[in-house]
Amino acid sequence: MKKSWIANSFVFTTVSTLILSGCAAQSSATGKLNVVTTFYPMYEFTKQVAGEHADVIALIPSGTEPHDWEPSAKDMKKVSNADVFVFNGIVEGWAEQALASADNQKRVVVEASQGIDLMEGLPEEEEDHKDEDHKEAADGKILDPHVWLSPVLAQKEVESIAAGLTQADPAHTADYRKNADAYIAKLKALDESFRTGLSTAKQKDFVTQHAAFGYLAKEYGLTQVPIAGLSPEEEPSPAKMAEIIDFAKQNQVKTIFFETLVDPKVAQTISKEINAKTDVLNPVEGLTDEDMKQNLDYIAIMTKNLEALKKALND
Ligand SMILES: [Zn+2]
Repeated sequence: MKKSWIANSFVFTTVSTLILSGCAAQSSATGKLNVVTTFYPMYEFTKQVAGEHADVIALIPSGTEPHDWEPSAKDMKKVSNADVFVFNGIVEGWAEQALASADNQKRVVVEASQGIDLMEGLPEEEEDHKDEDHKEAADGKILDPHVWLSPVLAQKEVESIAAGLTQADPAHTADYRKNADAYIAKLKALDESFRTGLSTAKQKDFVTQHAAFGYLAKEYGLTQVPIAGLSPEEEPSPAKMAEIIDFAKQNQVKTIFFETLVDPKVAQTISKEINAKTDVLNPVEGLTDEDMKQNLDYIAIMTKNLEALKKALND
């Protein structure tokens, strides 16, 4: 079994090298681009642009929080062999090493957040919890990776992905352009519904489980008050908890948001303390089985996020 797989892939590699030597890399057995992405939004944006011209996979399995995920040797190999590798940047602290160790001259690498003006993460607690996964700005501040949660910045990520696919497979330039335009039109409509839906919100502050919604808040004139820092697994200190409880009381925050991939215990504790409701605000860092059962995608989850925000901010 193993032997014949190796034999087959050797044949395919040889054939595709012969046919394609000197032109675009299309090394998969199906003749399609072999595209490896990291976590769900990168996968979804890439699928949308690639259409039928690529086999797209996500390395990080569904139901898995990407901030702490580490690739296996097998995953590293997939990154190695990809025609195109798409990652967000910052979230995937392991990516640089994976790329450096791969001997693949033809591979196109897309860091989708590149060219976007990244915000700094929150100071204080973050300073104590610096880990290697976080890219630091020149002055040592930690940069916020969650650009995909702004429907405006998501469009820029889609553009970067379209440029990468086009570079790897120029023969389908027109299709990648058409697909990117169609998806960007949907993201523009999403942006418009956020803009109009939140413009009349009575309340501007919302409490989240981790600091994922900074770009979204900035885009629509809201203020995110996160319980944890840029990574959800950073446990808040008792002082931080007390500060958030105080803030929520003083600002009549009536909903505490939690996430689907992270234990909601802390959010529940705070909500009980101030007699607030809890609801889901989904940072779209990975789909759950339930999301998949309901056929939810990025646009659908973001639309649910908008409804949840409208409800919480007008309560
Ligand atoms: Zn996050």
